[in-house]
Formats: sequence, structure tokens, C-alpha cells
Amino acid sequence: MPRPLVATIYLAAMRHNLARAKALVPTAKVWAVVKAYAYGHGLAQAVQGFAAADGLALIELEGASRLRELGWKKPILLLEGIFEPADLQQVFAQNLDIVVHSEQQITWLEQAANSLPINLPTPLRIHLKMNSGMNRLGFMPAMYASAYARLRALPNVAAIVLMTHFANADQARPKGLSVAEQMQRFAMGAEGLAGEYSFSNSSATLHHAQIGPQYEEHWIRPGIMLYGGMSGQSSAAGAGLLPAMSLHSELIGIQEIAAGEAVGYAGRFIAKQPMRIGIVACGYADGYPRHAPDGTPILVDGIRTRLTGQVSMDMITVDLSTIPQARLGSQVTLWGEGLPIDEVAHAAGTIAYELMCALAARVRVVVEP
Ligand SMILES: *Cc1c(COP(=O)(O)O)cnc(C)c1O
Repeated sequence: MPRPLVATIYLAAMRHNLARAKALVPTAKVWAVVKAYAYGHGLAQAVQGFAAADGLALIELEGASRLRELGWKKPILLLEGIFEPADLQQVFAQNLDIVVHSEQQITWLEQAANSLPINLPTPLRIHLKMNSGMNRLGFMPAMYASAYARLRALPNVAAIVLMTHFANADQARPKGLSVAEQMQRFAMGAEGLAGEYSFSNSSATLHHAQIGPQYEEHWIRPGIMLYGGMSGQSSAAGAGLLPAMSLHSELIGIQEIAAGEAVGYAGRFIAKQPMRIGIVACGYADGYPRHAPDGTPILVDGIRTRLTGQVSMDMITVDLSTIPQARLGSQVTLWGEGLPIDEVAHAAGTIAYELMCALAARVRVVVEP
């Protein structure tokens, strides 16, 4: 018998969340972001769950190949573009859209255009990235128009989409630049340039839906919201989103312990009174966060209880004091329906993104239509 730990992926929730993003910004075309193996949900699931998206966006070139193998015919965008000139072969062969964020990448394109017999082999669609204050990838506003001009001068460039990325779209009082301040810088750098636009991640889609529609043709790039997670403090359910992944297991052991007994490695949890402790088949080698403290919420037979003791590689230990009916085989929910992944992530000092992406290869996956 396999281990009772199962991640269930709900395609209907993925479809629902995509429809939600579209409804928030009806004028936008949508890149469903599927980097990191669709935030742990799997590329095969993404192709089905996001069939209604206008395109899929990711970082990994091998992931792009996989999407084509899976039959995805619509656009695919490489969010960091190419990493070396040789990657262009795949870009042309699989008809991929690319982000261009550096002088180096432009030089590679110019060299490719010069060395090919005629033009670039297939019309290229480029997302030209501006650093409007995130200070990660992209051209400074003052350099943006010249980067644009160099790309325009290439033969066979079908489109240049004007793109930037927000650092604080989920913050009410950001420490860094606000969305409005980044948009000011963007507008200066992109002034007079023709093209479609691409701005919003999930947070901007949810909290700044007015941005894109000022521009005629524009894209949004939601990721986390499509999987039923949030960045920042607001609730996914409150935003009308459904969890696309749940992680379930079972109790595989129960211990009745006396007051003063310590549970697990390093004796982090010590029982103040006699207790029943449940042992759950799920540990950090499955992607459960090892830093989760005592008190991290967890459901046993649908009833909320708490982590007690250090997370081990293959097991966690939970308090059964308030769940006398719990027995071997009782259902345990690590996150999902009834226990938002954002809440578990917050308790463990991380974000839902990290939990989803960390789902380990050894966890059995079941897909619900
Ligand atoms: C990951 C990513 C997104 C999606 O971000 P979410 O916060 O998950 O919505 C959008 N755009 C770019 C460039 C990204 O790298």
C-alpha cells in the first residue's frame, strides 16, 4: 500500500480562479503563470486547468518544451528570456515569446540575426522589460527607448510588448515604491513607444485592477491567485478564489503520554498534562515546512488542532486532546479545503508560494476534474 499522503489538484478550482482573474480585468489578455512546475501543481494540470488562458508564462525552457509536448498550441512566454544564445534555437523551433531584460540579450539577438541567411526564421514576439523600481531585472527608464529601438531594427520582430513588474502591489503602505510611483517611472520611460502592455501579477490584478484598462491592449500575469493563494495579508476566499491543491494524509500512530514527556526531536514540545499525540505521515521531505512552530494549524477528522513538536523528515506530531474520536487512519488535512494554505504558511513564517512549490516529487498526486 502506498503512503497515505496525497496532494489533490482540483482542475475546476484552477478554471474558476482563472475566470475570476479575467472577470477582474475583462479587457486584459491573460498569461497564466506556470513557472516552478505550475507552482507545484504540475504542467499537465496547468494545460487543462488554464485552457482558457491566452498564453502560459514560465521561466524554464524544458518546461516550455513539455507544454508543447502536452499539446499547448497558444503562446508561451519565457519570463526571463534566454540564458545563452543557443536557447534561441528552441525559441524559434517552438515558437516561444521571450522577455528581453538586458543589453546582453539584445546583442545575442543581433548576432543571431546577422548570422542567419535570411532574417530570424520565425516572427519573434518580445516582452521588453523595464526596471521601474523593483531593481531586479530590466532596463532603467532612461535606457528603455534605446533598447526598444535596437529591437525594432532587427528583422522579423513581430511585436514588442512593453512590460514591467511591481514590487509592492500587495502592500497598503509599502516601504518601497507604490504601484502608482512605479507606473509614473514606466510612463516616462515608455513614452511614445508603440506596443501592447503587460503589468499586473496577482496582487496588482486583485488590488489595482484599474491600471491596465487605461491601455488599449494589455496583458495581466497572474500566478498565485490562480492556485488559490495570496501574497500579502488578505484572504483568498474573501477574493472569491478556491484552493487548487489540498494536502491530505492519515494518522499512522497514536501515543498516550504522561505530563512532562517530550515529543519528537530536541524535545521542543513538552506535555503539561497527560496527552494523546497523533503521528501524521507527512514531513519536511514531502514539502511540509520544517520551521513550522508548535501551534501551526492542522485538521484531524475535519477538526482544527495544532502541531506539537519538531517537524521530522517523514512525520509530524499533533495534539489529539480535543479530538477523542481520532484513531489510526483518521483523515488529516495539512492544507486545502477547510484550512487555507495561506494560514499554514503564515504560521510557519513563509508564504503559500513556497509551500506549493516545495511539494516533493515523492508525494502522490491525484487530479480531480
Ligand atoms: C512569477 C511572476 C508573476 C506571477 O506572480 P504572482 O505573484 O504569483 O501572481 C508575474 N510576472 C512575473 C514576471 C513573474 O516572474
